[in-house]
Amino acid sequence: MKELEDRIRNDGAVKPGEVLKVDSFLNHQCDVTLFEHMGAEWARIFAGKRVDKILTIEASGIGIACCAARHFGDCPVVFAKKSQSINLDGDQYMAKVYSYTKQKEFPIIVSKRFLTPGEHVLLLDDFLANGKAMHGLIDICNAAGVIIEGIGIAIEKGFQRGGKELREAGYDVESLAIIKSMNGDEGTIEFA
Ligand code: 5GP
Repeated sequence: MKELEDRIRNDGAVKPGEVLKVDSFLNHQCDVTLFEHMGAEWARIFAGKRVDKILTIEASGIGIACCAARHFGDCPVVFAKKSQSINLDGDQYMAKVYSYTKQKEFPIIVSKRFLTPGEHVLLLDDFLANGKAMHGLIDICNAAGVIIEGIGIAIEKGFQRGGKELREAGYDVESLAIIKSMNGDEGTIEFA
């Protein structure tokens, strides 16, 4: 998606550890017009698929998922929570995820009330790197008995293995921007 690639080129910053900082429009400050266009693009790509619900992960997935839902018949958006809360009552699905950016493992939790066996679900997230977060969501989907229709990613770091592994496992992974390489010293970002 050219608009997203241009934005990454103009406003993204490559940080040590192969981390791309896009907090001016995606991870901290949110460009809702861009989110809206991203949602429209996923709707075009996943046209014809049945999507009853969008599942994402807090925090950065929520904004893009809510904008995308407007293009998927205003379907509900569920986000996996990263910590236990007193508001989380009843039975829950839980998976463990290793965070690339925070370098530690954390649980992700979804209340059983919000995933119904047999539902068709679209998974969305801001980044795909090694695929740990997505595998956590997939574990939860499998435990819940829902059908994964596809995986929509805003920015895939194509030089890390998550996307390749998920596609080899048979998932329909659609990333709006795939980074082939990035170099912090030279400030260059190359797209696939
Ligand atoms: P994965 O689980 O695929 O290794 O990494 C995906 C998650 O880690 C995303 O949800 C995102 O929060 C975070 N992440 C991974 N790489 C980057 C990066 O280069 N920049 C930012 N901002 N987040 C990243």
